[in-house]
Amino acid sequence: MNKKDLKRFKTALEQKRDAITNATGKKPHWENMEDTRHGDFVDQASDDNEIHVNLRLLQIDAKLLRAIEAAIERIDNDNYGICSICEEEISLARLKAVPWTSVCIACKEKKTA
Ligand SMILES: [Zn+2]
Repeated sequence: MNKKDLKRFKTALEQKRDAITNATGKKPHWENMEDTRHGDFVDQASDDNEIHVNLRLLQIDAKLLRAIEAAIERIDNDNYGICSICEEEISLARLKAVPWTSVCIACKEKKTA
């Protein structure tokens, strides 16, 4: 990956991290949720009561925050975009969709299968 892309990912990750850190009391709205199937999240959430929804969001917050911080660390350590399982490069398209991911799509599918 070239330096320009790396810098762009780092900026995006830092913005995301800051958004979560500053979002206390506010409901976050993310486009990309690593562990939720697209579209399902809102539907699932509407079935729960408000307290459960907030709890779930907090748990996701903490998990996502850790993933983002780890990704920023990988950028600093020069191993960003490398799958932590098979050590192949993660595709740029996947990183653009989920910049904090540490596994390639093949390993992700194996993990969830
Ligand atoms: Zn992999």
